[in-house]
Amino acid sequence: MEWVKSSFKRVFGMKKVFFVCVFFFVATFIGCSPEKKDVTLSPDNGLPFFFFPNDQAAQDSVEANLAYGTYFTVHPQGRYKISFDANPTQSAPFLQLHRISFNEEGTRYTSRRVRNLEATEINGRWEYSFICEESDIAIWATTLLGEHDVYYSGRVDHFSFEGEGPYSNSFNLNLIITGSFEGTADGLDEEDLATELLASLRKAYQGILIDTIFIRYAEYHPVVGHLFPKDEPWLAGTSSENVMLDELGGFGTGDTYNALDLVLVHRIDKSTGILGYSSIFSANLGGGIGSTIVLGSHMKITSTEESWLNADEIIGTAVHEIGHFFGLRHTTTTNADFTALGDYSSYEDGIEDTDWCSSVLAYASAKKKSVLSTDIYVRRPLAPKIYTEEAASYNLDNCPDASNIMFPFVTEVPIEGFTEGQLQIISKNLSLIPH
Ligand SMILES: [Zn+2]
Repeated sequence: MEWVKSSFKRVFGMKKVFFVCVFFFVATFIGCSPEKKDVTLSPDNGLPFFFFPNDQAAQDSVEANLAYGTYFTVHPQGRYKISFDANPTQSAPFLQLHRISFNEEGTRYTSRRVRNLEATEINGRWEYSFICEESDIAIWATTLLGEHDVYYSGRVDHFSFEGEGPYSNSFNLNLIITGSFEGTADGLDEEDLATELLASLRKAYQGILIDTIFIRYAEYHPVVGHLFPKDEPWLAGTSSENVMLDELGGFGTGDTYNALDLVLVHRIDKSTGILGYSSIFSANLGGGIGSTIVLGSHMKITSTEESWLNADEIIGTAVHEIGHFFGLRHTTTTNADFTALGDYSSYEDGIEDTDWCSSVLAYASAKKKSVLSTDIYVRRPLAPKIYTEEAASYNLDNCPDASNIMFPFVTEVPIEGFTEGQLQIISKNLSLIPH
């Protein structure tokens, strides 16, 4: 990725930059069929940990908290299975699932039990299968009920959450141009950029079909268009507080409503050195929270300086961020990821056919000179935003996963694409997302 090297040498006098990921979950709640017995979540449980389908990473914190309250996103008609190692010293607990509703500020929640599932023991594991009958995306939480109606206190090991849904393996893209756009630094207008972006995505995302890319202009949005003057550069996080611009998600009707919304702004202004924002398992191809990925045509260097990006830089960022959207972690967990996710057990993505890089860990834990600040934050229930800094001085070109799209840093190593294991996760997760 020569483009990255030259650009970032120009900008920072160094080679390493970060993809930035936003972790948050979606909270809309419509329809359900609660059962009779009412067992509540532990009232003091702040739902500190979440999980998402088909994730392979180690999750010690989820395992430790599964009995008392962890949460996850469900989609209509999704078929799910939670499983973990059977514990021969204990009777199998009931898995209770609770639908969570938050107050408007997201500071408090109420829960209502929707499932009370008995374990099936298969090959030394307790398995709990269920189908989500919600009519929209919802958040559910777990408890495990042991003997004498108290929380299960046995160990939970090798937790797994699998999911597949009924939705097709194809989807459309909206490229939403926000404010003034002068083309890319190498002279591509939005039409050319869209064409190249589509070609690159089709090449990387084997096994799923990206049908059409629609170019949209924020100023023509039927509801919020008046907020997006076409002649001004849009600075995400400054022009509006909402850096994700999810009010622009679900642009259009029919096929274009249920598209993946890539919002192209002038630059992301929340912090320096940010190319794009996405989320891990954002999983919303409609409108509203979680429906957008934000990309800059420029990158902020200081409050008064910025770098104009080439098409390849914008496209490379989009390919990476869309991986997060469909539930891929970084191949190697960065210090910022640890902080954002709050789980220090997942030092790599857990996928069998991806490599990971011990240098990243050494470098992350050593916290060398901090050159670049990253802005990875969690927007999730009951948790404040977390800001963190990351050093960027370690030579990562020798990392075995440096050629993977989901490597967390941009290096000089050419990108080879996703592995089969990553593509399988993308396909399964796409099947869960209504579109
Ligand atoms: Zn990333």
